[in-house]
Amino acid sequence: MSENLKEIVEEISKNDNILIVGHILPDGDDVSSLVSMTLGLEKLGKKVTAAIDDEIPEYLLQFPLVKSKIKKFEDVEKIIYKNYDIMVILDCSSPDRIGRLEKYLNAFHVLLIDHHVTNTYFGNLNWVDPSMASTAQMVYRILTSLNVEYDKELATMNLLGIATDTGFFKYQNADVLVFKDVTELIEKGANISDISNTILDNIPLEQIYLYKDVISNLKLALNGQIAYSLLTLNMLSKYNVLPKDSPSFVENLRSIRGVEIAIVFQEYAKGSYHVSLRSKKWADVSKIALNFGGGGHPRAAGFSVETNDIRQTMEEIVDTISKTIANHNPNLAFQ
Ligand code: AMP
Ligand code: MN
Ligand code: MN
Repeated sequence: MSENLKEIVEEISKNDNILIVGHILPDGDDVSSLVSMTLGLEKLGKKVTAAIDDEIPEYLLQFPLVKSKIKKFEDVEKIIYKNYDIMVILDCSSPDRIGRLEKYLNAFHVLLIDHHVTNTYFGNLNWVDPSMASTAQMVYRILTSLNVEYDKELATMNLLGIATDTGFFKYQNADVLVFKDVTELIEKGANISDISNTILDNIPLEQIYLYKDVISNLKLALNGQIAYSLLTLNMLSKYNVLPKDSPSFVENLRSIRGVEIAIVFQEYAKGSYHVSLRSKKWADVSKIALNFGGGGHPRAAGFSVETNDIRQTMEEIVDTISKTIANHNPNLAFQ
């Protein structure tokens, strides 16, 4: 057991009232980590509250435990001081990622558990391991070290994050450890087809229409190595899709032959855009995102921009990225 894991496990064992916190723009790994940690620690008789200061997308609310176990910021704020001994933050690379909960960081002893290479180590006790494909696997290690008994429900919720952060076991981060952990969770009763039926084979029709419009905004740069597109609030309202429920479609853009980097500029409030980046084989998009004030992983990263002229801003950003990437040795593509 690594030294940091050991310290995290000791700290969790000796505290009974635990606040678990996830990140804004929550994803599958984050909600899986929060729900698994909650279920696991409840099995040990601890008093646990999980909270995210953002709306959870509809595809994740399809899992009843996500709906019932993760609270809104407003619901925990009233009771925050008197009720918790420690704060456990999961899957967050920097303090701004926890939204308004950031202002409570100094009120608690903070345990930070994360796998982002861009992590800023803002906890009092940090276990950051970028070699892990998902935070859910780090939660798995914590819970098994605490001798938590896994049932089907917990195993399935824990598997969810490994599945989503590895693109259902097909990204470059799907390594031996992923398949080992998956094997163990399946042995404990996790149901992978439940997860894939709920997420992959359950797309609302309006999202398919939206995809058609995203494709009509598609542009290419750098000899077809960069694909980028725009998803505006107007496009969403045309099909009555809420911003929090919309996929970015960035993975669809990456799947185009010859594309190394896919970028989607997604408007979430008037003039405010979340930029999602994905790469296929060699480009390190975490470095690109970091340059623009965001963060993430080598193959999946993001940042935010504010602009009144998104089309101009898109061209400027894509131009900057093209220049950075063009400097790379093309031989890297074959490594
Ligand atoms: P997304 O494109 O939103 O799916 O994000 C891809 C990855 O980048 C995820 O691992 C996020 O945690 C990370 N990420 C996205 N946006 C940001 C940001 N503004 N700051 C730090 N990390 C981010
Ligand atoms: Mn995440
Ligand atoms: Mn993650």
